[in-house]
Amino acid sequence: MNACLPDIRSAVRIDCQGLGSLIAAIRRRGYQVIGPHLQDGAISYGPIQEIEDLPIGWTAEQGPAFYRLQRRSDSAMFQYAAGPKSLKDFIHPSEIRLFSAVREEGAFRILPNSDPAPRYAFLGVRACELAAAGIQDRVLLEGRYSDPIYRARRGNSIIIAVQCSAPSEVCFCTSMGTGPRAEAGFDLALTELIGPGSHEFVVEVGTQLGAELLSEIEFSDASPDLRNQAQAATQAAAASIQRRLDTNGLREVLRDNFDHPHWDDVAQRCLACGNCTQVCPTCFCVNVEDSTDVAGQTAERWRRWDSCYSLAFTYIHGGSVRVSTKSRYRQWLTHKLSYWHDQFASSGCVGCGRCIAWCPAGIDLTQEVAAIRAATNQTEGTK
Ligand code: SF4
Ligand code: SF4
Repeated sequence: MNACLPDIRSAVRIDCQGLGSLIAAIRRRGYQVIGPHLQDGAISYGPIQEIEDLPIGWTAEQGPAFYRLQRRSDSAMFQYAAGPKSLKDFIHPSEIRLFSAVREEGAFRILPNSDPAPRYAFLGVRACELAAAGIQDRVLLEGRYSDPIYRARRGNSIIIAVQCSAPSEVCFCTSMGTGPRAEAGFDLALTELIGPGSHEFVVEVGTQLGAELLSEIEFSDASPDLRNQAQAATQAAAASIQRRLDTNGLREVLRDNFDHPHWDDVAQRCLACGNCTQVCPTCFCVNVEDSTDVAGQTAERWRRWDSCYSLAFTYIHGGSVRVSTKSRYRQWLTHKLSYWHDQFASSGCVGCGRCIAWCPAGIDLTQEVAAIRAATNQTEGTK
């Protein structure tokens, strides 16, 4: 154990053994560590007990409608881009029981869900995911009504970020101003540096809690050379990102093109499956469903993720408002990139690229936006 407490905003060095000790220190405090692991053919978030649970020596290739695990020639643990799951899966879970009710003497007695909020420590969180969590905070905590489930889970969390040095082909965080470097919103942020005969981490300290965790493990000062290497890794990552979304005037471009013929073009390809909303770290819509047992003695109310692609999502007194796939895709994209600014004072997209990789039709919002923008520019040019 290190006797000293590192300063907030300072950077220290740990090795792989130190990372293992950090995981153990977090677990000793009663947190469940949620980090990257191999699951269902992807690098996904899941429970981590020890360093061996991490995707050692694995990365993933991504593209539109494409995700494949790949072996690396080294023992890197964090050299991959965002996978299908995000913090949303844990803080704003896909389903949760709100309450149950039992029939007693002709009436129902309500039993609120009294399960304590889990204490999660997220390991491997990328800058785009921190930005997405910030957006969800605004939506679910800072409005007129705040969500107590989200509040309890978010408030209980530790964030151990990992600076991204291996973006994928679908990433465009540089366009959205959300990455690849995380500047705030973490307790600790690691940069993994791996070379011939060396495997170490530069650790930036973001909070007092992060400093206290480090004080429980062996660390040394990060030399200026090591800190420069860490900076260079994220600079190289930023330089390698090719995908672009031109956000200049985008709010107005989409708002003013409600009847653009390109929406029909997308509708020919979109399956209205809702995958994009499920993997998107900022989509937050839910439905509430009640069920009873056959005898009518007990009932439960569950909250489950919903999607603007579901026909029933806008069902009101006898019909759905958005009957066509065209109207549903347009709603999703226009809300994300245009109306979100009016509602929440930011874009609803952080450029993580998940909706591109996990869309079975390979629909790519950056290309759909470019097509609408190009046609709009042409029309304006002929005026
Ligand atoms: S819209 Fe797509 S790229 Fe943007 S945050 Fe959601 S999943 Fe990521
Ligand atoms: S854009 Fe792709 S992922 Fe989204 S609903 Fe359409 S087909 Fe499914």
